Amino acid sequence: MRLKRFFGFGTDEVSHVNVSDKNVYHNFSPRFIVRGVQEGWITFTRDTLTIKSNPPVVYTIVRGPGHYCCFCNEKLGDSTDGKLHVETVHNKEELTDSTHPSGFRKDNFYFCHREDEVSG
Ligand SMILES: [Zn+2]
Repeated sequence: MRLKRFFGFGTDEVSHVNVSDKNVYHNFSPRFIVRGVQEGWITFTRDTLTIKSNPPVVYTIVRGPGHYCCFCNEKLGDSTDGKLHVETVHNKEELTDSTHPSGFRKDNFYFCHREDEVSG
């Protein structure tokens, strides 16, 4: 996804944004979201993230930041919880993700799925 911000004349306030190269899935960093909310071009709720371009681009938040199981993508409380989950639930399973030998990972982004564009 590419996002271009436009500023009002003679001001550093964002007047509008333009979004292109929209992928179906996108990872948004918390920093990006905070900036968008502060500058007024993102609406962020528990389940959705809306970029207020014209037309608006709406994403469903699939997973927020946190610990996740590499086998089943279940959300885990912390690394202790992760170890316990992998040992008990996936004890005999072969790990396919070699970048996370522990069997769980820590995501630092919001994994989002784009909805169809809506008007208005
Ligand atoms: Zn699991």
